[in-house]
Amino acid sequence: MAYDEKVVRAARGRLEKRRRDAETSAAALRERMCGEIPRLREIEREKAAAIPELTHAILAGNADGAVERIQQKNLELQQEMAHILRSNGCDRDNFEPRYTCTKCGDTGYVNGAVCDCYRRLLQEEACNALSGLSAMRLTDFASLRLDYYDNAVDPKLGVSPREHMRDIIDYCRDYTAAFTPHGDSLLLQGATGIGKTHLCLAIARGVTEQGFGVVYGSVQPLIRRLEAEHFGREQGSSEDQLITCDLLVLDDLGMEFDTPFSRACLYNILNARLLEGRPTVVSTNLSISAMKERYGDQIASRISGGFVPLLCVGNDIRQIIRRQSLG
Ligand SMILES: [Zn+2]
Repeated sequence: MAYDEKVVRAARGRLEKRRRDAETSAAALRERMCGEIPRLREIEREKAAAIPELTHAILAGNADGAVERIQQKNLELQQEMAHILRSNGCDRDNFEPRYTCTKCGDTGYVNGAVCDCYRRLLQEEACNALSGLSAMRLTDFASLRLDYYDNAVDPKLGVSPREHMRDIIDYCRDYTAAFTPHGDSLLLQGATGIGKTHLCLAIARGVTEQGFGVVYGSVQPLIRRLEAEHFGREQGSSEDQLITCDLLVLDDLGMEFDTPFSRACLYNILNARLLEGRPTVVSTNLSISAMKERYGDQIASRISGGFVPLLCVGNDIRQIIRRQSLG
């Protein structure tokens, strides 16, 4: 997939920082340990001297087994260094940098091909660029407050809204903790202002923190962006990203302007993700029958057939907060 320049720059920046950090901390450790234990510096010097010696011995045709002798000596030096470091409380055998990715040494390439770690960073950055991340940073499961939900039994539910929402929140928390890129899709349904967005953000944040590529967004701005790209006002491949990210969280379905373009986009994205077994979390205040009326059978049946429905209940939390702050 082609990524835009900003995404590539951000991913390369993170990769370079990983490499720099590994090298800086290895060099700092070398300085410190060699300062404390002069024998370590001698070993380093002897090891460095072995390289031209070895080249010379090979060029000279390995006279009298010189190559083996030098290799053996080098091995002993390595072992001595490891022993000194370990017995001085150090958790490593040498001063080589410890890269995050051992396959590519945090360069992003193995034998000229893009390494998986770099591919992963590109995907994460592309997701970040699309997501409303500032809200996500502030929101997690711990900050969901159950005391906003009524504690009296609701005859229709058979339990109190508080108890019901405790179950919903637990379900979403478990879903997030055990997230897999081929897991279930969730449909969070319920009236405006009862905590659906908070739940969406908490899921998005929790899954992001596990290193998956997550796109979170309200439907309207995402559609606006797709429109701008489709009609050439902006460059980008947001639709690919929305289809291929590990988790797509679409907040506020039903609040966007309903146009043939928005319907086509929603259908393409939801359908492609379902066909490829990729999970989507949708929040909406529409019932399935209202969805059918608004979007037609195609979209409504994709959602009713492919998503786990979670009914959110309660009073408008924003009004409760407003009342509390006034009173
Ligand atoms: Zn790598």
